[in-house]
Amino acid sequence: MTASIPNSTAARDKAFALHPFVDPLANVEPFVVTRGKGVRIFDEEGRSYIDAVAGLWCASLGFDNERLARAAYEQMRKLPFYHAFTGKTNQPLVDLSERLVQLAPSPMSKVFLANSGSEANDTVIKLVWYYNNALKRPQKKKIISRMRGYHGITLATASVTGQVINHTSFDVPLARFLHVQTPLFYHNGLPGESEEDYASRCAKELDDLIVAEGPETVAAMFMEPIMGGGGVVVPPRTYYEKIQAVLRRHDVLVVADEVICGFGRTGAYWGCQTMGIEPDILICAKALSAAFLPISAVLIGKTIVDAVAEETHAIGTFGHGFTYSGHPVPAAVALETLKIYDEENIISRAAETGQFLQAELKRRLAGHPLVGDVRGAGLIAGVEIVADKAERRNFAVTDKIGPTLVRLCEANGVILRSCPNDTIALSPPLIISRAEITEIIDKMEAGLDLIHSTLRSGKPA
Ligand code: PMP
Repeated sequence: MTASIPNSTAARDKAFALHPFVDPLANVEPFVVTRGKGVRIFDEEGRSYIDAVAGLWCASLGFDNERLARAAYEQMRKLPFYHAFTGKTNQPLVDLSERLVQLAPSPMSKVFLANSGSEANDTVIKLVWYYNNALKRPQKKKIISRMRGYHGITLATASVTGQVINHTSFDVPLARFLHVQTPLFYHNGLPGESEEDYASRCAKELDDLIVAEGPETVAAMFMEPIMGGGGVVVPPRTYYEKIQAVLRRHDVLVVADEVICGFGRTGAYWGCQTMGIEPDILICAKALSAAFLPISAVLIGKTIVDAVAEETHAIGTFGHGFTYSGHPVPAAVALETLKIYDEENIISRAAETGQFLQAELKRRLAGHPLVGDVRGAGLIAGVEIVADKAERRNFAVTDKIGPTLVRLCEANGVILRSCPNDTIALSPPLIISRAEITEIIDKMEAGLDLIHSTLRSGKPA
């Protein structure tokens, strides 16, 4: 049946692979990634690209690391798999859980391991519901999150995610999932309004929603400290202190999704520290294992752990867990990753490089006629392209200005990502150097200049 398919990887990819986040009829040419070195990846022709997004915001130590490869190999030789059901455990699972409790930004009591950010967030939704059943509040189940927030792609987590593209035709969000506005001052602040006043308005919107729904029906709010996929949204000053006050008042749990922000991305160890969040539950993944193997973790506060234990005792067992929860190999790689962060001062060095990135993006791109906003913290940044700077007006989606810049930069050896509103996201490996950052910005600037001059001449870029 495959005789007519040309024998190239790209042709066979087109024939057999269904890809996430691609239009299958747009005839997008597959980009075959063959190997990696430092912050660079290589294609089949041997061309190299700086990956300015670290894959999907995850390859924190770049694309080769001997210590991590060895940690996986050694663990595979010793114990390649065992599960964590019915009381079985293993050394990496225990060491990693203990280490994460020690590292947590607010007091946490236990850790549940899973394989992806989605699985971890899905676990949190179930835990929150279970917790409220334990407390005999069966109606307290609604989950709040924010438009443009990203929390995963399973049925329940796609419902928490606030991006229309992840909802349309999938029949989500499910009932009991509510969304408040994206706390993006650049677009949603009113003329003359201060950041602080805008933050108060966001907190009031949240309060009004909880009161309208009935606080006895609202269980938790999910938040990325800084939104990644939604377009690197850094909420306005005082936002988190104000919304947390609202949540505490209504006994709504604070769930921090640190899948992108965790482990130094925002200039501190946790995004919660950068942004002033005190979570009841924290989720991490991605840089937890430097993306070398899939693993995620849910860190859970004591009140919740205790209530869940009581409920479980009444039922007889905890009916939740994945075959690979606490798989010893990814757990060993995650432990080694955390050791590398400590021993090689990765987090503090990334904080310094992050300051350079933010300052250089502002210095070199903020004044560009196509750039409306430059925002971020540490090594996560967003550069928003606009059609009209004074009016803060974006181009039409059909103009594909963000994707065009990404395409131009890719042709020039830099991988970027276009998020909603033509916001170009940067989230490079934490090990990136200043010279590599300069190279990225050079190429962005050249791409922006080209788009600007072709827009003025009326020809396509
Ligand atoms: N939360 C956040 C903040 C994310 O960015 C992502 C993925 N980009 C997820 C959750 C879901 O993680 P996964 O794709 O591993 O399921």
